[in-house]
Amino acid sequence: MRNDLIVLAGNPNAGKTSLFNAITGARQHVANYPGVTVERKEGYYSHDGLELHIVDLPGTYSLTAYSPEELVAREVLTLESPRVVINIVDASNLDRNLYLTLQLFELGIPVIIALNMMDVAEGRGIEIDAGELSRKLNVPVIPTVARSGKGKEELLAVAARVAREGAGSMIPPQIPYGPDIDPVLHEMEAKISSSGLLTDLYPARWIALKYLEADEEVVTKGRAGYPEVSAELEKMVARVAEHLRKTLDTYPEGIIADYRYGFISAVLKSGVLKHKHDADRLYLSDRIDLVLTHRLAGPLIMALVLYGLYYFAFTGSDAPVRWLQAGFAALGGVIRTHLGPGLLRSLLVNGIIDGVGGILGFVPIIIFIFLGIAFLEDSGYLARAAFMLDRVFRTFGLHGNSFMAYIVGGGIAGGCGVPGVMATRTLRSSNERLATMLTIGFMNCGAKLPVYALLIGAFFARSKPQMMMLLTLISWSMAFLVARFLRSTILRGPNTPFLLELPPYRLPTLRGLAIHTWERSWIYVRKAGTVLLAVSILFWALMNFPRLSESRNAAFDAQRRALVAGLASTVKSPPAEVAGKLAGGSTAAAIDAAQAREALRHSYAGRMGIALEHITRFCGFDWRTNVALVGGVAGKEIVVSVLSTAYSMGRTGSGKEAPLGAVLAADPAWNPLVAFTMILFTMFYVPCIVSVVCLAKEAGSWKWALFSVVFNTSVAFLVAVLVYQGGRLLGLGL
Ligand code: GDP
Ligand code: MG
Repeated sequence: MRNDLIVLAGNPNAGKTSLFNAITGARQHVANYPGVTVERKEGYYSHDGLELHIVDLPGTYSLTAYSPEELVAREVLTLESPRVVINIVDASNLDRNLYLTLQLFELGIPVIIALNMMDVAEGRGIEIDAGELSRKLNVPVIPTVARSGKGKEELLAVAARVAREGAGSMIPPQIPYGPDIDPVLHEMEAKISSSGLLTDLYPARWIALKYLEADEEVVTKGRAGYPEVSAELEKMVARVAEHLRKTLDTYPEGIIADYRYGFISAVLKSGVLKHKHDADRLYLSDRIDLVLTHRLAGPLIMALVLYGLYYFAFTGSDAPVRWLQAGFAALGGVIRTHLGPGLLRSLLVNGIIDGVGGILGFVPIIIFIFLGIAFLEDSGYLARAAFMLDRVFRTFGLHGNSFMAYIVGGGIAGGCGVPGVMATRTLRSSNERLATMLTIGFMNCGAKLPVYALLIGAFFARSKPQMMMLLTLISWSMAFLVARFLRSTILRGPNTPFLLELPPYRLPTLRGLAIHTWERSWIYVRKAGTVLLAVSILFWALMNFPRLSESRNAAFDAQRRALVAGLASTVKSPPAEVAGKLAGGSTAAAIDAAQAREALRHSYAGRMGIALEHITRFCGFDWRTNVALVGGVAGKEIVVSVLSTAYSMGRTGSGKEAPLGAVLAADPAWNPLVAFTMILFTMFYVPCIVSVVCLAKEAGSWKWALFSVVFNTSVAFLVAVLVYQGGRLLGLGL
């Protein structure tokens, strides 16, 4: 490595040669790079006793391997290990020039930006805040006019300092490449680092990007030196390329370029560039953004979009949900007619069909919500929402990158906390990352949706989308408050700057929407068929064992016989409840129900639920709700499954099966206040087991996982008690 090497890089006509001449004067010479007709200009300059060796690279727009100029520039940058790159950008054409800058960042060499042609920019009415640009990119930015040598001294002073001391804390941000590329990139980078593929020449992330861009030179070198690793990398690239072709009809290269331009556009829009715009010259995306990200209209439109999505999801799914529920009821009926009463029938009907079917019945809502989210994401609107919410996030001690993590975790509804927690990897500050991870559990993940759908359908049927809006508002508010609290206490620390990519708007393709929706919905259905099935069966067993004693069963049998014989009044000491029913004209069904109820209370699950009533009576939950909530720790859908099983066991054989929602609505233990309290508790209490494990892994400590279990449940309980007791004071739910 040469300790004194400084290279000048920039687009053609950015002023490199002018700057080079201004710096080196006569101390320069020109040669050709070996084998190509590209000129190599070298010169020398002394600064404070430090002799700098300066190379003027050929002008390039990019660092691909398509032209000899780009290849030469790349070789000098990587193989000659310069101490510093001075990147000369044309201030009058910033967006285009910064594209090369981002690629220089990825090479990992300290970059200094010479913001050249400041005079030209001023003449065109473009105002650039160089300080803001430096803060956003976290590299030194020095305004220059190369032709007159203005800014040269300051530029060289900074270059000499960086050459001597390194970049220190001035490390430019990592550019995010979105949900399709980022995870693969991350995985490839790890594979490259661990195998050492070309890492003596280039940074691992850069190599991974070059594989994704199908860079001939790098891939050829990789294949030659590391055939097996290279083949694996190529397979990963092929997979993501195929996926992108099917969903967005584009290539990884296209996405990567889009995100770079989006990133630049976000930087320039966030206070760096003040341009007296000429409306005709705005691109279509920019023109749409004038409205959609408008300071006042923007948030209003965002609320409307969200409301529209919920309205679409609830109305669109209404009929399919009813068909599915009717289908499961019919299936249960078929089994009942062919199978006599007994444990097997109870397992099939009450445990599996009511349990898993109770969850699957709500799948249409999930599909519609996923479809809506896919549209918002594919069209580029979500990025705008993040852009608008940036300030809100910062106010609460979070980071703009927290937005996508929230959305993935169920910010709109229907996500999952596990990928949500993984999505926090884009956050660099560990305290911001932890604060985000610990609050993702408050989002409305896909597992909570069936619970909401059930209770909203039963108790707030006339205002479904409004309720969903309210719940979204509540969950975000809680996440923000808790984040602020954490960031002011145990996770204190400065906010890091946020840069967001604003990819151009695209019209989503039907195919792309269908594939995105299908992928996510399928994961959901598969979970219902595996984990949830197992847990449903477990809870069915907990609700059925131990069974009632012989003598209690005999007592119920005696009542039935008495009923048949018309001798009801002579039965000695019937259970109080049954006695009441008998007096008012008894039916066999009432006896069945009472027996099932007593059996349920007698089971392990029932006893646990009853024991918990000591605490949960403060928030209005009865023992069956308690069992459901305990089950929900495995996955919150289980709440619906357990309720469904618990309430169906009391009505075996009655024939007419009302859906669970209707049963709850008619049950005296339930009312809108209890339902609402229950929704809030479900929203806030302990995240499911899988996401707790994931949290421990990503946070690097079980301490945080334990914290989230205890903290979230305490928050949930506190909120539930306040809402329930407050509601009762107001005379609700009595
Ligand atoms: P290169 O292609 O990057 O080497 O760019 P040059 O140094 O050859 O400059 C291209 C043109 O821009 C030349 O005509 C320069 O005189 C002119 N130029 C360079 N820097 C500046 C500047 O800061 N202001 C103005 N007005 N012109 C400049
Ligand atoms: Mg030149």
